[in-house]
Amino acid sequence: MTTNGATPTNCFAWRSSSSMRNLGRRLLESVAAAVFPPRCALCSRALPTLDIVCMQCESLLPSFEGPCCQRCNEPVDDPSIDLCQRCGTMDYEVDRILSLGPYRGGWGRLIRAFKFDREMAIGRWLGSRLAAACLAQSEFRQFDAVTFVPMTRQDKRKRGFNQAEVLARRIAKRLNLPLSTMLVKTRETALQSKLSAAQRSTNLRDAFRLLPSVQEQVLLVDDIYTTGATVEECARTLKRGGAKSVVVATVARA
Ligand SMILES: [Zn+2]
Ligand SMILES: [Zn+2]
Repeated sequence: MTTNGATPTNCFAWRSSSSMRNLGRRLLESVAAAVFPPRCALCSRALPTLDIVCMQCESLLPSFEGPCCQRCNEPVDDPSIDLCQRCGTMDYEVDRILSLGPYRGGWGRLIRAFKFDREMAIGRWLGSRLAAACLAQSEFRQFDAVTFVPMTRQDKRKRGFNQAEVLARRIAKRLNLPLSTMLVKTRETALQSKLSAAQRSTNLRDAFRLLPSVQEQVLLVDDIYTTGATVEECARTLKRGGAKSVVVATVARA
């Protein structure tokens, strides 16, 4: 029993207006779905629910086939070998890399639609897929925070968003971890794959600056793993700032 007669009425009114709003939103969504049915981002087939890709296209998204390197997912010829030649012979700052699949085919098309056509719903969907892949592997659950490969302020302004940050935000939410900006990109860099060996060695040097938010166990997110040089430089910078472990998650591997 309440001493204030107005409270139950107000409470009911609030609940009532809240459920009316939900009902209104659902109604609007079904009207929108009837007028503009959601379509698969890969084959354009109409989807029965608000989703990104149809079940058939999702089942065709390429994964890494055959034996792969335990650190970087690179295919290896001999299934009895855990590490590829590079990971077996070189020292890396990145401790482990997880990618959903190769860049060719569906993953690449989805990344391009997200980055260049600004399809943010696709970005959030890719982030959810990456989070699910992290949760499926025990070594991808032990983090203090999630961070992302930064863009220069100018590049971010040009695109309107940082694709790695969008992915990282969704992953942090699904993994119930804080999203933390730990690095700033201080200058433009060229694509490593377009440079000579001599240019590569200096291209990324000191391109990232540390923020005081560095944690010990870091999950570093990017959209594509190409040469690995960018995440390696980020990991080097993070470890200089006190990170003990840097594990990388990317949607695809080129
Ligand atoms: Zn489809
Ligand atoms: Zn490897």
